[in-house]
Amino acid sequence: SLGITAIELADGDPPLAEMHPVKALFKIPRNPSPTLRNPEQWCRSFSHFIGQCLIKDFEARPSVTHLLEHPFIKQAHGKDVALRQQLAGLIREQQEVGCKTKTNHLQRRYDELQVYTYVGDILIALNPFQNLSIYSPQFSKLYHGVKRVDNPPHIFATADAAYQGMVTFCKDQCIIISGESGAGKTESAHLIVQHLTFLGKANNRTLREKILQVNPLVEAFGNACTAINDNSSRFGKYLEMKFTPTGAVIGAKISEYLLEKSRVIKQAMGEKNFHIFYYIYAGLYHQDKLKTYRLPDRTPPRLELQFDLMQDIVSSKLYKEQFDAIQECFRNIGFTEEEVNSVYRILSAILNTGNIEFAAITSQHQTDKSEVPNSEALENAASLLSIGPEELQEALTSQCVVTRGETIIRTNTVDKATDVRDAMSKALYGRLFSWIVNRINSLLQPDMNICSCLHSKSGMNVGILDIFGFENFKKNSFEQLCINIANEQIQFYFNQHIFALEQMEYQSEGVDASLVEYEDNRPILDMFLQKPMGLLSLLDEESRFPQATDQTLVDKFEDNLRCKYFWIPKRVELCFGIQHYAGKVMYNVNGFLEKNRDTLPADIVVVLRTSENKLLQQLFSSPLTKTEPTEDFRWQINSMSFESAVFSVMLLASVWSVCQCRMLSRFVCVQVDTMEMMRHPDETTNMRRQTVASYFRYSLMDLLSKMVVGQPHFVRCIKPNDDRQALRFCKERVMVQLRYTGILETVNIRRQGYSHRILFEDFVNRYYYLAFRAHQMPETSKENAVAILERAKLEDWVLGKTKVFLRYYHVEQLNLLLREV
Ligand code: ATP
Ligand code: MG
Repeated sequence: SLGITAIELADGDPPLAEMHPVKALFKIPRNPSPTLRNPEQWCRSFSHFIGQCLIKDFEARPSVTHLLEHPFIKQAHGKDVALRQQLAGLIREQQEVGCKTKTNHLQRRYDELQVYTYVGDILIALNPFQNLSIYSPQFSKLYHGVKRVDNPPHIFATADAAYQGMVTFCKDQCIIISGESGAGKTESAHLIVQHLTFLGKANNRTLREKILQVNPLVEAFGNACTAINDNSSRFGKYLEMKFTPTGAVIGAKISEYLLEKSRVIKQAMGEKNFHIFYYIYAGLYHQDKLKTYRLPDRTPPRLELQFDLMQDIVSSKLYKEQFDAIQECFRNIGFTEEEVNSVYRILSAILNTGNIEFAAITSQHQTDKSEVPNSEALENAASLLSIGPEELQEALTSQCVVTRGETIIRTNTVDKATDVRDAMSKALYGRLFSWIVNRINSLLQPDMNICSCLHSKSGMNVGILDIFGFENFKKNSFEQLCINIANEQIQFYFNQHIFALEQMEYQSEGVDASLVEYEDNRPILDMFLQKPMGLLSLLDEESRFPQATDQTLVDKFEDNLRCKYFWIPKRVELCFGIQHYAGKVMYNVNGFLEKNRDTLPADIVVVLRTSENKLLQQLFSSPLTKTEPTEDFRWQINSMSFESAVFSVMLLASVWSVCQCRMLSRFVCVQVDTMEMMRHPDETTNMRRQTVASYFRYSLMDLLSKMVVGQPHFVRCIKPNDDRQALRFCKERVMVQLRYTGILETVNIRRQGYSHRILFEDFVNRYYYLAFRAHQMPETSKENAVAILERAKLEDWVLGKTKVFLRYYHVEQLNLLLREV
């Protein structure tokens, strides 16, 4: 029926149409047989045949170049452009069908509430937008140390694989969760932690509870309601769970990245501030403590709690319950009452600071002076921060400037004073957040006695990465740019692992690597991160000019960024567009320079340091200058294969020129300029200021440095619809996500490439029964590996220098044969 069955390929071969399509592809003779009188006709039939197979079995789809580069097809069509185009068009169509087929497959599963699916070793997780009953302790037991094929796909299986990998190979693991905003990354991260605490035999109930409460506590401070997601992560989080070599959980550590501090002072239309502000407001109201924390009980605090009027906040049962839960988390994890009280005082001070208003004082001599006409909010804030109100007012409305050895006091205009006020709120919140994270880390750090028994500093790790997802709003600003660059970097890491590393292994083993093809996003990353002409460097350069404006910034981008992924739209002002791996995003540069400078005047720091509040003193006690010129990150690579070591260096070098990568005998050594990595804006005038962009670059570097040492496991979260509705599967949206995340290419590579690469030694050890007597263990040589392969009548395998390269179906065939023996 396919018009192709009559073609004989070789004596004894079954007709093409009866074969598995991948096998069939490899059956096309490398040199067309003289009996094939009409190769064009053959080829057309063949592509039609592939198309038919594809509808039946999407995963067998041959990749475009693979088909086009096949010697036979080349020979038949080399000169016939029209025919070649026809074939290419056909394959494109097939790809589209392939994408649809995969989507249909996911939809069928989704309709039956099967939200998890494997693609090779990657887990696809569709957001169910409803509570499922598949995360109970019974399920935890089901996914405990068993083979993956024994149970349906599940997020617990991924956690289990990481755990088994760590225990079996004594190697750190990392689970990378990615997907757009609202796709379910944070929920997945919670489920992984839940299962790891189960697997880690956290018999110590207190430790288990502490670890389980880390996420809710940190998320109360770092998550907020956005236009896309009611619980959107506004920071990146890498949670490392620490284990003994036998797999008992002994502690945890979080690293936080790039908190979106600007949310404290301003939120986009329809969005809210960080959750914690609503929780404490409602909680303190119910405890009748608004007065204690000097919070106004009539009008809502000025912190633009846009949508929630005071009455809505205090009558919300949810906010109150969340406040109780957060108090419980603080208590369980081990924060003292004094510490928690200080945290609430600082939060209340931030709310009051938002209410400080300025008015201009116009006198004959001075027009740029400001004052605080109504001092209530200022007094409240000062009292909560345990500083003098006069000193605070002075720091807000004037600044000390040192020029040529002389100190002069300059007064601030109303706008300037407002900026200083907002900068103070952001600094308070940002530092408070970092302090909470550090405090959690010290409370959850593994017991030193256990560690010294383990001969290791901190045991073994399973790291879980949950960052803010890719964002594309109607209006996108500097925050979205940082978020999207971070996602671009994670996609690069994914590509490197799934495709580049595979390619390297083919090459080092002398195997044809043309099968490995993928959409490389390195050029986009370079456009952002390269020095001195990348977008972030240009932004930094412009931020150093006091006279620079948003327009000069756009001009600078236009003059210097020559890349097809960047453009300036003709009719929209102060905008630029970027073609990200996940789609086109239009950014508005309004406020980019200010946000990047993120300046905190020294006067504010000086005042805050005079506080009698111990916590506040600590937050602002970082040294004024750093003496160390450089900082070394070192990773031991003796546990890594050569490819992974080279890969690590490549990956780190992708955060271009922030670092110098060197390979020493057993180390990948990366040097980072300390000026780039200083944690907070410089507080002295004589040092180069650290910008958000340079800190961002350092953060990416730090994150990658943690990730490269572990064996990665990928979870790709997919959002089935934009309305957050259960059981609604929007095909188009899913297809787009499958395409840009590289999942379709992954399917290809897993299906057509040599998905199993086994050392000759391991191969012979595992399968020698198939060719030798059971009690006669043969030498583990290449020749014996070949003998086994031949005896098993496998076809299309390839020999590398040290490994047998097998296709996905070979392993199934071998295991079937083993069962028969
Ligand atoms: P962002 O990038 O904005 O932080 P995210 O990918 O972390 O987004 P989540 O906050 O994890 O998204 O998920 C959004 C919402 O989807 C959750 O609040 C929850 O309502 C729902 N959800 C996600 N995963 C699940 C799940 N496995 N079971 C039930 N509901 C889920
Ligand atoms: Mg999240």
